Amino acid sequence: MPRFALDRMLIKLGTYLRILGYDSIWDPVLRIHDLIRVADTEGRVLLTCNKHLGSQFPTPKQWLLVPSTTPLDQLRYVIASMRLDTHSGLFSRCVKCNAPNQRIHDKRTVRGVVPEPVWLRFKTFTRCPVCGSVYWFGTHVRNTSATLGLILRSEDSTAGGASAELGGCGESEQAHKEKHS
Ligand SMILES: [Zn+2]
Repeated sequence: MPRFALDRMLIKLGTYLRILGYDSIWDPVLRIHDLIRVADTEGRVLLTCNKHLGSQFPTPKQWLLVPSTTPLDQLRYVIASMRLDTHSGLFSRCVKCNAPNQRIHDKRTVRGVVPEPVWLRFKTFTRCPVCGSVYWFGTHVRNTSATLGLILRSEDSTAGGASAELGGCGESEQAHKEKHS
């Protein structure tokens, strides 16, 4: 499973790749030389729309020149070019932190953390070990997946059998209450 480092022009694309479960990093303040070094050191594929790699800048060990189109078209380009699996890792990674989400085995632990109707409806929840965000297969997943042009398998019987969906909620119970009060 390839891992990615993205230049600062491709942050939206990086977010999409995280949604698909791909380890993807970027740093808006990192200079291209440093980004190339990080990518090479960590064995990441550098995604860039900088056409000067190889001339004005060093050539990374692994890289892909991404066209300057919309983020969605860029995603389609990367998926096709690298033959990415768009199903296996879907929503397995925190979109904010890039950390792999962990399955919550006892859903009672997130009661009061997620909205009550969500808690009642869904059986499967995951949590980011870094920021504590709780994810569930809810309507957001279907919407996001439709946006990305993905067809989903059902991961939760309550999702209706046609689509798996994911929702996300704030970093902590406190943040959640502030958001919803
Ligand atoms: Zn997180």
